[in-house]
Amino acid sequence: MTLSPAIVILGPSALATARRIQALYPQAVIHGLSGRVEADAAYDDFGDTLRNLYRSGTPIIALCAAGIVIRSLAPLLTSKGAEPPVLAVAEDGSAVVPLLGGLGGVNRMAREIAAALQVSAAITTSGELRFGTCLLDPPSGYVLADIDQGKRFVSDLLGGESLRIDGEAPWLDRSKLPMAEDGGRTLHITTEQRAAQAHELLIHPRTLLALVDSTDDLAARIAQAFEQAGLAQKSLAALLAPAALMTDRTLANAASELNVPLRFITSDTALPTAIAQHDGLQVLRAESPDAAQTIGRPRGRLSVIGLGPGAAEHMTPAVRRALDEAQDLLGYETYVRMAEPLRNDQVRHCSDNREELQRARHAFELAASGRRVVVISSGDPGVFAMAAAVLEALEEAQAPTDWHAVELEVLPGVSAALATAAKAGAPLGHDFCLISLSDNLKPWAMIESRLDHAGAADLAMAFYNPISKARPWQLGRALEIVRSHRTPDTVVVLGRDIGRPAEALRVVSLGELTPEMVDMRTLVIIGSSQTRRFPRGDGGEWVYTPRSYPQA
Ligand code: SAH
Repeated sequence: MTLSPAIVILGPSALATARRIQALYPQAVIHGLSGRVEADAAYDDFGDTLRNLYRSGTPIIALCAAGIVIRSLAPLLTSKGAEPPVLAVAEDGSAVVPLLGGLGGVNRMAREIAAALQVSAAITTSGELRFGTCLLDPPSGYVLADIDQGKRFVSDLLGGESLRIDGEAPWLDRSKLPMAEDGGRTLHITTEQRAAQAHELLIHPRTLLALVDSTDDLAARIAQAFEQAGLAQKSLAALLAPAALMTDRTLANAASELNVPLRFITSDTALPTAIAQHDGLQVLRAESPDAAQTIGRPRGRLSVIGLGPGAAEHMTPAVRRALDEAQDLLGYETYVRMAEPLRNDQVRHCSDNREELQRARHAFELAASGRRVVVISSGDPGVFAMAAAVLEALEEAQAPTDWHAVELEVLPGVSAALATAAKAGAPLGHDFCLISLSDNLKPWAMIESRLDHAGAADLAMAFYNPISKARPWQLGRALEIVRSHRTPDTVVVLGRDIGRPAEALRVVSLGELTPEMVDMRTLVIIGSSQTRRFPRGDGGEWVYTPRSYPQA
């Protein structure tokens, strides 16, 4: 899978153009020089940043002089390995210059960006300029058999040779290639495995499917089946397997090693005809690369994720990836909005519906139909949030069996208590507990008893859901219980909207604390008897609970 591009800018004057490019690639992250410009991510050293992105294969759109980009990447360019697209774009959007990554689609990106900025791309690749297409970079669904042979072929065409196409190459319909019935050069679109003849270029369409019955020796059997039938393995579009193998790890690993999608069929799946058989394995030929990707359906995936407290930089990369790959997103509207940027093709199922189990069941229904589904919580999904509800829905006796075949994962996030604690210093530096003060899902008497025990055990405590319009008196009662175990000078931290634009952090004493200081967007930390506070250089206060108790 290709990575989302990185847009790299040096100062605020490039930000407007950067955002216009980001609208084209919603998953792209804008990296800004720290201290100079507020972007999605901050960097300190331009050269290091560019080189790291390049090494990781990330497409780079740098809004600065081409020369700076070239000099920064120069040390990495001597070895010509796989190259991500690298483009320089004038910060006012007036010029788009593809620099590197001709085979990674840099010219295509340059044209897309130029079209969005309403300028023309500075394409310098001669074959592409002349022919309006890059023969060596066919669209997805087609693979070049041999790059070196391809280069010779294109230079022959530039030298005046004419071309004939044998097979289906729909993307070349509107090209300016020098076509002729009796062309001296032939482009073959074929699933056949053979060495190219002189004056021939081979492109393999990904139209073949391997239908497997079992997972034994899969890679070897596929290789043999293709070889015996004279078929190019580069034409393999997907593995097909019976739905009964949906949870089979060996099969999933084999597909990812072969770098092809894995899809599942049932007895009523319409299959294309088999063109070869070998050792229990069939090779099927679909009508087109697109058709090959629609047979059967993928294993559905349900990712239960935590966004973290709010700021994008506190979201884990695994969560960002799950969001980017999602087809359906479920959660409160506020959380779905916090998951932006999202694409228009991603379906948002926003609900203010408090019925967590119902939402969990809906998520399973979507995932069991083969979709990639994300259920969104704030903070961590396992802390007073959706992960437990999802597991409860799955364990229910009436849960359909196909829910169990869904690839279910829980991806952690930074919970409000941890985000608030970090802002204040380290109030949870020793033993602590997390308590929800909401009695919607448990009896109030149990909350009182837990507060009493936690107070007696001298645990620091983090209160989630401390108060709401429907629960106005509970916090006051909770504080009475806490006060029976702690002195009035016990340190209290109030974190409100931590990691969000309205973030506010307060440090008070237990004696000063009143329920009016707290609302449902606040996380309350009550220190233990050991929790301490002291002034910071900037006027605020640090709060921490020492790692050890004084020894008696
Ligand atoms: N799963 C979430 C908690 C959901 S319960 C997590 O792990 O953080 C909702 C409660 O969490 C709120 O009532 C509030 O007490 C707390 N909370 C959530 N996000 C917060 C934030 N950004 N700042 C402060 N408190 C927050």
